Amino acid sequence: MGTNLELFERALRVIPGGVNSPVRAFGSVGGTPYFVERAEGPYIWDSEGRRYIDYVQSYGPGILGHAHPAVVEAVTRAASDGTSYGAPTESEVVLAEMVVDRIAGLQAVRFVSSGTEATMSAIRLARGATGRDGIVKFAGCYHGHGDALLAAGGSGVANQGLSGCDGVTAGAVADTIVAPYNVVPDIDETIAAVIVEPVAANMGLVAPADGFLEGLRSVCDAVGALLVFDEVITGFRLARGGAAELYGITPDLWCFGKVIGGGLPVGAFGGRWEVMEHLAPLGGVYQGGTLSGNPLAMAAGRTTLELLDDGAFAHLEAVATKLADGLTSTFADAGLSAVLPRVGTLLGLYFGDMPPIDFDEAKVLADNGWYPRAFHALLDHGVALAPGAYEALFPSLAHSETVVDETIDRAATAIAASI
Ligand SMILES: *Cc1c(COP(=O)(O)O)cnc(C)c1O
Repeated sequence: MGTNLELFERALRVIPGGVNSPVRAFGSVGGTPYFVERAEGPYIWDSEGRRYIDYVQSYGPGILGHAHPAVVEAVTRAASDGTSYGAPTESEVVLAEMVVDRIAGLQAVRFVSSGTEATMSAIRLARGATGRDGIVKFAGCYHGHGDALLAAGGSGVANQGLSGCDGVTAGAVADTIVAPYNVVPDIDETIAAVIVEPVAANMGLVAPADGFLEGLRSVCDAVGALLVFDEVITGFRLARGGAAELYGITPDLWCFGKVIGGGLPVGAFGGRWEVMEHLAPLGGVYQGGTLSGNPLAMAAGRTTLELLDDGAFAHLEAVATKLADGLTSTFADAGLSAVLPRVGTLLGLYFGDMPPIDFDEAKVLADNGWYPRAFHALLDHGVALAPGAYEALFPSLAHSETVVDETIDRAATAIAASI
């Protein structure tokens, strides 16, 4: 199979940057990416046979841990019945019913193949339904790589040190207004939609300030704009009904991805019928996809959501809390001030004294040079965080208390050895 370096060198010859999504190239932390050979539960093994406790979990989809036997079985069974038909299946109906059942206020949903497609389609739908052009997004929120939303993006965009993106025309972002996170913007009747990550998980982890989400709901209501919650990370993770349930705010449209596909390519967007009926074939907003509602992907999504019951969220939250507390004191013992803001089951990691409240503050902490050092120290000791300071940590159901204890022990050794 070859070493990580050999594989990366081969990859660099045939794949731009050697990767199919920029953050994976280790650009912002330096060094050679590990190539994964296999994964199971909380662990991944690289091409050199090294095992890591994995807190990336594919940036969210791995909420059950890797290769969960029920998911593997469901996908295998689905594959043996054919991998794609271009015709509807019962599985799509079942997953749609599960989503409608879990998300209060969401009456209809359409499946796509990525979070990017979900947000792109939701924006188009909001524009079509309102007959308006303007959209408001918040600095540091990442909504995938659709042109209209590639302005002041967090996550992969921020990791590359980009404020925008070459190739996105001025026209494509002319109707996009970027506002600071955690400040309720003034909007008027030219605005079709305000799109927000209800908990910002692409600039580390920034919780919504008191009144922020309520404020967005009321300014949208005041001018007839649609409020879009991008719950691609928070959906089915913060609670059964995601951030909307946790905060008690009902948006007009939701976007989902990651968890909803259980590791296969699935995204979704949904809302009230009054809005969703603008989609073709009922209405004039076109949206479709050859692989949308793919049977393997639906099987993985169904199995994953079924396993996410109240006990699962309680476990995830306990593990996230233990990890946050353990790492905070481990870093503090080493004289390093780290903050691990936590919302429910999600965590961020910054080196500094106070968690940030917006992108400007997050950038100062993310770019202070400590994250890459801590990242490599931990990686050398068998703990994999995301190779970028703007990403969240994703403990899974497979991260038992024992695995978290092992993580904290390894972190202590890692810091003593190399920081
Ligand atoms: C990951 C992400 C997306 C994009 O999803 P992809 O499946 O990578 O296209 C959109 N919004 C948020 C909040 C995300 O975290």
